[in-house]
Amino acid sequence: MRHIAIIGSGPAGYYSAEAAQKKYGDDVQVDIIDRLPVPFGLIRTGVAPDHQSIKAVSRRYEKTALTDNVRFVGNITVGEDVSVEELQGLYDAVILATGAPNDRTLDIKGGDLDGVIGSAAFVGWYNGHPDFADLDPPLDGKSVAIIGNGNVALDVARIIAKTESEFSGSDIVAHALDKLKQSNVEKISLLGRRGPHQIAMTPKELGELGHLDRARPVIDMRDFPEEGDDAMLEPGMRKSVTHLRSFFTRAGELREKPVTIDFDFYAMPVAIEGDGKVEKLIIEKTELDKDMRSIGTGQRYELDCSMVISCIGYRTPPIEGVPYEHGRGRFANVDGRILPGLYCVGWARRGPSGTIGTNKPDGFAIIETVADDIGSGDNREGRMGLDRLLDRRNVEAVTFRDWKKIEEAEIANARDGAPREKFTDVADMIAARSN
Ligand code: NAP
Repeated sequence: MRHIAIIGSGPAGYYSAEAAQKKYGDDVQVDIIDRLPVPFGLIRTGVAPDHQSIKAVSRRYEKTALTDNVRFVGNITVGEDVSVEELQGLYDAVILATGAPNDRTLDIKGGDLDGVIGSAAFVGWYNGHPDFADLDPPLDGKSVAIIGNGNVALDVARIIAKTESEFSGSDIVAHALDKLKQSNVEKISLLGRRGPHQIAMTPKELGELGHLDRARPVIDMRDFPEEGDDAMLEPGMRKSVTHLRSFFTRAGELREKPVTIDFDFYAMPVAIEGDGKVEKLIIEKTELDKDMRSIGTGQRYELDCSMVISCIGYRTPPIEGVPYEHGRGRFANVDGRILPGLYCVGWARRGPSGTIGTNKPDGFAIIETVADDIGSGDNREGRMGLDRLLDRRNVEAVTFRDWKKIEEAEIANARDGAPREKFTDVADMIAARSN
């Protein structure tokens, strides 16, 4: 019997568990350990609440979770309740699938003012992550700035722009919906430090901006290269740029919509100013050098705004004793190997890139690597040893069966048309399992 511990119950964790099960059948026991009492990581707290079809992939993870040889061990913090070293003593392989839940910080003057918010916090807030339920973002101003030209920036802009009825069928949490209903925001600026050909936005997500009830995307054609130059782009990127261009051709048709989503290209934030809270963003115009990097032109302008949300990527939190690559914000690894018996997968391995589906080949690959290393296993204690440790420390884990009860309560609490109303407090989650 092989014993594998996976830390993190998001997509990378569950795809790895599925791969282990497919590889070994009943000859493996997998424990998926998570800090929260609820599973699925980014699917629950990262994927936008109005993208339910993407969230539906959790049904596949549930199939894996409900098999006898895979176990969910929720509400256990590695590093507090149990150490990585202890897990390494108990399991043949420990796989860190901890994702990249920390924001890359916006390192500019004024970056610590009230109203400067990282995307992990903002996305966590509207998705009901217990760490960010109290965020209370300032949506009372007329203008907000979003920094970054990736899909997260798009998600954030779309969520701020939507009307209440556009959230029907979503699982946006009540505290966020209530706050967004009272929003005064009329102008959402999306700042990219490079140009339209350098965006990291995918076509489907970009296309959605052209079909919002009260908001319209606004672009300035002077930022665009000649249309013929689009032919050099790879097909997905070309589609995205075609969407951007269509926002210009459809400007007349969209002009009645009162909220604007302004694409400000070649715009690098250099400082945030305000009296204790965000009042304006100072932006430097950029141009691209021959390697397509943005360089400042010295030409500056100001954008009045009451909130700045930086969507500039994420980092994996380091774990004491685990080698870490500070520059890239992920564990130091070679093809997922960190140290003997210790591995990483998904964003914790490669950094925050790709889609949910990218984690599937990643999860299957790491199990092949583990298999090459562990052979038929080393007679470790596995889950029995973990249970004994947790018992001794009076730590009670939340099981998948418990989660199903929590989920039942969330479904029962849903407002009309919504799939669930998430608990946003860990104590409420834990209480719901005994109902
Ligand atoms: P991302 O795709 O890496 O985009 C980050 C953006 O931030 C880039 O435009 C980057 O510009 C910009 N940036 C980085 N540092 C900056 C700085 N100091 N100042 C100004 N701009 C800066 O990251 P993400 O949007 O966080 O997304 C993470 C991953 O999740 C991506 O793979 C994404 O596709 C995926 N995702 C997918 C979906 C979906 O499929 N629906 C939704 C959300 C997220 P440069 O290019 O100039 O560096």
